[in-house]
Amino acid sequence: MKHSVSRRNFLAGAPLAITALAADTPANTGGKPAMLGGPKAFIGDFPGWPVYDQTEERALIDTLRSGKWYRGSGQTVGKFEQAYAQLTGAKCCLATANGTSALFTSLNALGVEPGDEVVVPPYTFVATINVVLRQHALPVFVDTDLETFQMDARKVEAAISPQTRAIMPVHLGGNACDLDALLPIAGKHGIPLIEDACQAHLAEWKGRKVGTYGQAGCFSFQASKNLNSGEGGAILCNDEDLRERCYAFHNNGSGLKYIGTSFTYNSSGANLRMTEFQGALLMAQMTRIEAQAKTRTENARYLTSLLKEIPGIAPARMYGGCTRNAYHLYMFRYDKTRFANLPRAVFLKALAAEGIPAASGYTPLNTQPFLKNVLASRGYQRLFPPKVLAQWQERTRCPVNDRLCAEAVWFTQTMLLAPRGAMDQIAGAVRKIQAHAGELAKA
Ligand SMILES: *Cc1c(COP(=O)(O)O)cnc(C)c1O
Repeated sequence: MKHSVSRRNFLAGAPLAITALAADTPANTGGKPAMLGGPKAFIGDFPGWPVYDQTEERALIDTLRSGKWYRGSGQTVGKFEQAYAQLTGAKCCLATANGTSALFTSLNALGVEPGDEVVVPPYTFVATINVVLRQHALPVFVDTDLETFQMDARKVEAAISPQTRAIMPVHLGGNACDLDALLPIAGKHGIPLIEDACQAHLAEWKGRKVGTYGQAGCFSFQASKNLNSGEGGAILCNDEDLRERCYAFHNNGSGLKYIGTSFTYNSSGANLRMTEFQGALLMAQMTRIEAQAKTRTENARYLTSLLKEIPGIAPARMYGGCTRNAYHLYMFRYDKTRFANLPRAVFLKALAAEGIPAASGYTPLNTQPFLKNVLASRGYQRLFPPKVLAQWQERTRCPVNDRLCAEAVWFTQTMLLAPRGAMDQIAGAVRKIQAHAGELAKA
C-alpha cells in the first residue's frame, strides 16, 4: 500500500470486511441515550467512500502513460459510454463533465429556450433548477408527494401552460418517481420528459432501468454518488439523432461527423466533455456497482422492516412500479409528536451522539431568495410577461413540500454498505431516543 492510501481508505476498499463493533450494550432494550451519558449504540466507522483498489490505480496510470487524456485522442470515454448503455439497456449514451452538464445539454438538445417553462420538483439538489435558469427558462414547481418524497404526478397537469417545453422529474434519493403517471401526461401534451436520474444508478421501474424512459435520462458521477469519478455525468437516450445533438452541444457545437476534420459547427454549444481519466475511473468503479447496490438494497429493506415498527418514523414509500431502489439516500419522516415533541434538530444530535450521522436534507427550493432576484433581473423582465412573473410565486406554492422539508431525515448511501448488524444498531438508537425523548427534550 502506498502512503497515500490511508488505512481508512484501505478498509473502505472492503466494506463488508469491517466489523462494526457492536457496543456490548442493551441498546435494544432501552439503555440510556448517549446524549444522556449512556453507551453509544454504534461504535466504529461506517464504510468510507470512495471505494477503490489497484484496479483504479492501474486504470489511471495506464491513461496517464498513454498520453491520451481527452476523448478526441483516447478511447476510454467511448468505451465507458458503451458499457453504461449496456448496463442500463439504453440505445445511446453520451458522457459529460458532470451531472449538471448532462441536464444542461439535454435541455438544449431538446429545444428548451429562453422564455420557456420547465416543470420541476422543489425537493431536489439545486442543480436541477440551475440548469433551467442557465437556459433563461422559468422553473415551475410541482408539489411533492409526502409519502414517496417524489414529484406529485397528480399535480403536474395543472402546472403545464402553452409555454411548457419540458417536464423534469427527479428520481430522488434513488427511489423512482411515478413514471406511469408522468409519461402519459408528457405524451398527451407533446412535451419531452427529462429524467434527472443523478441519484438513481441502477434503479428500475417495472424491471427496466430509470433514465431510459424519458426522451433523455441524466446521471451524475460526482464524488458522493453511487457511481463515482469525482466529477462526471452521462445522458441516456434511445434516439441517435438526439444523441448527435447532445454530442454537438457538449463539444462546442461540433457534431461527431465533424470532429477533427474542420472548424465547422452545427449548433452553438459549450465544452462539457468528460476526460479520459474520468472514463478510466468509471470503468473500474463499474466492476463494483452491482455488488454495492445489492448490499444497499438488502440493508435498506432490513432497516425499513425495523424502522416502520417505530411510531413516528415513516420510511419513504416506493410506488408500485419501482422494482429497484438505488438508495442513494435512505429517507424517512420524523414525527416529533411521537417523540415528546423533541425537535428534529435535537433528534439528529441525539443520533450523532449514538455514532449515527444523519441529516435534515433539503430546504424548499421554490422559496429560495435567489429565485426572486432571478425573476427580478433585467433579462427575465424582458423575457416573461409581467403577469407570468407576478403570478409565479402563488403558482409555485408547495405546502406539502414545506412540511416534508421540516420532517425529513436522511442517512447516506455509504451507511447502507455497513454490515447488517449496523442496521439493528441504527434502529436501536432510534428506539432508545424515543424511550427517553422527554428527558432529551429537557436536556
Ligand atoms: C448530483 C445531482 C445533480 C448534479 O450533478 P453534478 O454531477 O454534481 O453536477 C443534479 N441533480 C441531482 C438530483 C443530483 O443529485
